[in-house]
Amino acid sequence: MTKTSTEVRGDSGPAMAELVASRVLDVPDFPKPGVVFKDLMPLFADGPAFRQVIDGIVDHHGRDSFDVVVGIEARGFVIAAAIAYATGVGVVPVRKAGKLPRAAYAASYALEYGEATLEVHQDAFTAGHRVLVVDDVLATGGTAQATLELVERAGGSVAGFSVLLELSFLNGRERLTPRPVHALLTV
Ligand code: AMP
Repeated sequence: MTKTSTEVRGDSGPAMAELVASRVLDVPDFPKPGVVFKDLMPLFADGPAFRQVIDGIVDHHGRDSFDVVVGIEARGFVIAAAIAYATGVGVVPVRKAGKLPRAAYAASYALEYGEATLEVHQDAFTAGHRVLVVDDVLATGGTAQATLELVERAGGSVAGFSVLLELSFLNGRERLTPRPVHALLTV
């Protein structure tokens, strides 16, 4: 069966959704049985495609709508660094527990597969700084929810949240309501 454009959707239109869809690999049973891992490494590895998705995220929010970008460990770092370079803002990493060298706020949450704790440096943000948060995949929304809470605890103001791919059947978007979610591809 051939794919039609109605099969792919996303918040930046069907062409962007198709671009992401064409460069994601489904890896069954990783990291544990029953999980289909969405591997976006082919998208990261394709220079023109990667640039298009970074520009798509920046265009969606507007170049002047954020003062700093947060990437969630680890694949979010790749996206955040590219947005930072493209727009001239700085990057703040939200890291897994025990990685940050100075005083940090911590938030624990449930993953689609397991449990985790994320941390951010207590002095990461200038008060009132508008923070764009990015990650590769939105699944249950626990990671994003913890991150958005950490941003606010550390004095930032959430300006937006973008992912390359959203797994809609896990209802992450609903969990984050009323915060808007920007997903380039929704499956
Ligand atoms: P969640 O907290 O359930 O929304 O999970 C999102 C986080 O886990 C993101 O940082 C993703 O990188 C990762 N993740 C969860 N599920 C998947 C999946 N099926 N494929 C790839 N990454 C995933």
